[in-house]
Amino acid sequence: MKIKSLNTTVAYRCPECGDLVFGKAGLFTLSGDMLKLKCGCEHGSELVLKRDRSGLTEAQALCPLCGEKHAWSFREDAEFSSPAISCSCPVSNMNVLYVGEQDAISEIAETDGRMMMEVLEENGFATLAEFLAARRVQRENAAKRPDTGKYSPEELASMISSVLSELQEDGMILCDCDEGEQELTLSLENDGLHIDCLSCGRHTVLPPETVFNPDVLARLDKIELN
Ligand SMILES: [Zn+2]
Ligand SMILES: [Zn+2]
Ligand SMILES: [Zn+2]
Repeated sequence: MKIKSLNTTVAYRCPECGDLVFGKAGLFTLSGDMLKLKCGCEHGSELVLKRDRSGLTEAQALCPLCGEKHAWSFREDAEFSSPAISCSCPVSNMNVLYVGEQDAISEIAETDGRMMMEVLEENGFATLAEFLAARRVQRENAAKRPDTGKYSPEELASMISSVLSELQEDGMILCDCDEGEQELTLSLENDGLHIDCLSCGRHTVLPPETVFNPDVLARLDKIELN
């Protein structure tokens, strides 16, 4: 069947409260090539819809299940085989976004919701909202300590080495040596990054909060060895 652009409904599951949020993708024709659909909950999550010139629409939202951002593409003028299509989270394989007719979406989403609940109940959660609230707490706690989990050791090492070589090029790693004499060795230990100058024997340790937090690391503008 053909879905008329102006009637196309898009629905996504809010990654914060778990509610299904409905909106009209067809409004595009009136309001330009980007559209945001917001959840009315206190956390105000949003689905961002962008349409390119060829009519391809990309929908982007945080995923309520895995917490990552996903993007899905569809054509509103495509011939869908059913009144609504669903887009799933690649991690959990469960549907989190729907495009099509509103009634059909509600129907599919209800079935999906029951499946989702079975999985959540197995993991000890009574509702999706409860699961999301627990994850929010987890996320807040994680933000308080240096986050090494997000990056592989290789990624961290390459970020550290690029920041340090930039500082060294700019002459912002300070020891007793004159220009050109400095000979640095780096070693990543549990208590942080040890930096030694072999020429003058000066030494410092960058603490884990600095070394393992790319945001903090990127803000370093000077290192003094003592
Ligand atoms: Zn919400
Ligand atoms: Zn996901
Ligand atoms: Zn030195």
